[in-house]
Amino acid sequence: MINFRRVKAKTRFHDPTKNFELVEVESEKRYDPLTGRLVRVFPFRKFTFTRHDWTPFVEESRQRFCPFCPGVIEKAAPRFPEDFIPGGRLQVGQSVLIPNLNPYETHSAVVVMSPEHYLSMRDIEPSVMRDSLEVGLNYLKAVAEKDPDNAGYSSISWNYMPYAGGSLIHPHLQVISGSVPCNLDGEVAAAAAGYYDRNGRVYWDDLIEAEKGGERDLGSTGQIHWLVSFAPLAMGDVTAVIKGCSTIWDITPGHLEELARGLKKIIGYYDSINMPAFNMAMYFAGKENKGFCCTVRTVGRFTLFPLVGSDISNMQMLHHDPWTLCAPEDMAVELKKFIK
Ligand SMILES: [Zn+2]
Repeated sequence: MINFRRVKAKTRFHDPTKNFELVEVESEKRYDPLTGRLVRVFPFRKFTFTRHDWTPFVEESRQRFCPFCPGVIEKAAPRFPEDFIPGGRLQVGQSVLIPNLNPYETHSAVVVMSPEHYLSMRDIEPSVMRDSLEVGLNYLKAVAEKDPDNAGYSSISWNYMPYAGGSLIHPHLQVISGSVPCNLDGEVAAAAAGYYDRNGRVYWDDLIEAEKGGERDLGSTGQIHWLVSFAPLAMGDVTAVIKGCSTIWDITPGHLEELARGLKKIIGYYDSINMPAFNMAMYFAGKENKGFCCTVRTVGRFTLFPLVGSDISNMQMLHHDPWTLCAPEDMAVELKKFIK
């Protein structure tokens, strides 16, 4: 029932690096098995990154004002109204959730993950991720109880470092909830409902079945199944399927613990290939969404050296075609070593 559709194209030219021999170069288009959305796989087989040194950026950011650092956050961070979140903010462990000073959804919060101003990929401990996700979930539950009209669509997301869109070095998550979905979230929810109507099954259950033991399968860690995404939204795209969970109410502390341990391994892989930044998103269904399953997606973010080129080009911006420089299956070979 899952259609892994790939279309290959061949392009011919005289290659200056091969004495102008006539060569044929292959590229590939893939279609997401759920949404049908097109993505492109560029024909770089072994793409390597030079290591990015964040030290000068981190040092500069320490000199500037950081609203999330201890001593400042107490005075500079906004607070929720008392009738919504008593005490004005939420906390789990050392992770603190505050209102987003620049909201872009009805409910818009930021999780300051740790008192540490900078966490290198190696220093991001599972406990920090677990606590940060838990406080994000607690906020979404408060929204669902106090303002159910704006609890239909929610997510918890992460821009790790400026190349991934992070405006501050200090590690933080974005948590949003509103009455309408983000574009991709809505497309996925609608496609999943359609799949459920046609097949009487949850798409992700069938996906895990179809991928099991295959080249993109990273295996299960218990309640969570890890897959290299067939149709990646960017380089290093990994999908974690939280089995049997669809809304915020289904996620337990055990899921978050398992998720954080798995994410640590994915981040370890990014670090090993010198991927300097990443995005993460955790998606939830609203009560009315049929056939949905909670997933967490992570993608690597980078600049194209040596001229600090963005990894977002006209293809994503103006054609809405995501692309990756390397085949997901090639990446999966390396990733499997980290998950095991
Ligand atoms: Zn800071």
